[in-house]
Amino acid sequence: MSQESHRRVAIITGASSGIGAATARKLAAEGIAVSLAARRRERLEALAKEIEESGGECLIVETDVTVRAQVEALVEETVNTFGRVDILINNAGVMLLSYMRNAHVDEWEKMIDVNLKGPLFGIGAVMPIMREQGSGHIINVSSMAGRRVFPSGAVYCGTKFGLHAITEGLRSELGHKNNIRATIIAPGVVATELTHHITDEDVNKRVEAMQSMDSLTSEDIANAIHYAIEQPAHVNVSEVLVLPTAQQ
Ligand code: NDP
Repeated sequence: MSQESHRRVAIITGASSGIGAATARKLAAEGIAVSLAARRRERLEALAKEIEESGGECLIVETDVTVRAQVEALVEETVNTFGRVDILINNAGVMLLSYMRNAHVDEWEKMIDVNLKGPLFGIGAVMPIMREQGSGHIINVSSMAGRRVFPSGAVYCGTKFGLHAITEGLRSELGHKNNIRATIIAPGVVATELTHHITDEDVNKRVEAMQSMDSLTSEDIANAIHYAIEQPAHVNVSEVLVLPTAQQ
């Protein structure tokens, strides 16, 4: 149950599939207005229809998180529609695993743009709003890869280690001064489309092992996000690490 009297508003990036879509469904079902951001508009429209038919409130904003002006427009449109932003969920991400020896430099750059710059653009855009409100919650979807480096994951892990550092910095600066909470959600293997974009064929064995595991579902992670959000205002869940029981 919300401890606040106003309707809460959440922005979710990467809402067109996987963890983002499941989180949007979960939060909307709990009465939180959700602003859905991603590039694939048709996916967002289908999700919005589903949410509205179940009685939830939502907004679609087609957004490429690597473009700062688009992320700023996402936040502005959310405030124009719902009046505030209580929660920002930086979930959009790409995992283009490759071995360093194969030098997929374009993919390294893309991971840095989506996984690190994207969240930073979002944080920058909501900061004045949350400071003025005197409250807010920033949730960054990192990964087990933000704690442990594995072969083929050097750059992906680098972005997630970076996201851990940014989140911890946010938490330590903004909690006591601005009443803004910061949470890392760190999943292990979740069955989503994330592995579909890997191009380095040398990585196939690792991907097959991931896909054959009894992995987590996106709903498992949506539940973890919901748990962090619903704690009383004086509780900052700084990190939730959720692994499949079968993951080593
Ligand atoms: P999906 O591939 O299903 O979802 C990724 C989402 O990110 C999509 O909605 C996609 O939308 C969005 N996205 C990608 N690039 C951009 C961009 N430039 N601008 C806006 N949105 C973008 O994978 P998951 O649900 O698994 O991934 C969500 C997060 O969870 C990621 O940050 C990932 O690193 C993290 N994670 C996933 C794990 C897993 O095993 N699946 C484990 C640990 C962490 P669109 O293409 O429409 O723009």
